[in-house]
Amino acid sequence: MSDDATSWIDLRSDTVTQPTDAMRDAMHGAPVGDDVYGDDPTVNRLQDSAAEMFGFEAGLYAPSGTQSNLIALLLHCARGDEYLVGQEAHTYKYEGGGAAVLGSIQPQPIANQPDGSIALADIAAYIKPDDMHFARTRVLALENTIGGRVLGADYMAAATSLAHERGLATHLDGARICNAAVKQGISLRAACAGFDSVSVCLSKGLGAPVGSVLLGNRAFIEQGKRWRKMLGGGMRQAGMIAAAGLYALEHNVQRLADDHSNAARLSRELARIAQLKVATPQTNIFYIEVPPGACDALRATLAREHIRATVGQHTRLVTHLNITAADVERVVAVFTTFFKDWHQAS
Ligand SMILES: *Cc1c(COP(=O)(O)O)cnc(C)c1O
Repeated sequence: MSDDATSWIDLRSDTVTQPTDAMRDAMHGAPVGDDVYGDDPTVNRLQDSAAEMFGFEAGLYAPSGTQSNLIALLLHCARGDEYLVGQEAHTYKYEGGGAAVLGSIQPQPIANQPDGSIALADIAAYIKPDDMHFARTRVLALENTIGGRVLGADYMAAATSLAHERGLATHLDGARICNAAVKQGISLRAACAGFDSVSVCLSKGLGAPVGSVLLGNRAFIEQGKRWRKMLGGGMRQAGMIAAAGLYALEHNVQRLADDHSNAARLSRELARIAQLKVATPQTNIFYIEVPPGACDALRATLAREHIRATVGQHTRLVTHLNITAADVERVVAVFTTFFKDWHQAS
């Protein structure tokens, strides 16, 4: 078996996708210009069409979701302000403390409920009064999907209304908002309703190699360009990569339903294995509990079978563009055989 990425079944993340020939063709043919001058027609098309699709006035192409979330927080908060955020949220836990380091913005983490939401009562309770002892609470940051779980439209409406009533802005880390919309059968616009800003990753389930788009009103995005430049995200002939993002938005949104059904199939089949505890996925991400004593051997078996997964006691499995129904069958077969033997050996 050859050792290039395409010969592996990679369940670690939906960031591992390979651009298809059609996506590469779109990149090859894209007209480009210097985007720092605003001259790149493909970047401009991506920003405009994302704004239109998700229901905002304007968009800003950023090299990563981390940068796009950071730009949003820098715009919503000044030095000494704070944002309310889930304890498990990417913008709190997985972005290197960027808002604190680079913006002097304090996070106020709040426990996520088992369904991924932040309880409305907690949001209300953590908004600090206007008092010189306290940081000024400026923004509620939510994430959808979060750990593969969908926050429903009713919850989003209630949480964003509460934030707005209390004078807060609302930001959505929508790295996987398309998964949430497709799962609920609602439009991308409806999935973003109630938010002042949204960051959408093009490089997760949508399958582009690079990039995110920050969405908001025109003035917000204009000011965002200054922060993006300061953070090193002002790119030149970025149409080369923006073309892939545009292709992804045009072709890869509705097909996320395939990733969801592959994840459902995979979890159903793995749940037949007595030694595993398997969660039921809502979208393309779910967790299985592997007996601690089996982790090392399972890791080795998967590697031998050219299956990549971050195996641990809590193993996250992710389906995406490059996982087919046949891949799901092969993974199930490898797991099933492994645990038949492992059970006998122990
Ligand atoms: C991946 C991810 C990001 C950040 O995107 P990068 O492009 O990897 O910086 C933000 N939020 C969530 C929920 C993500 O999964």
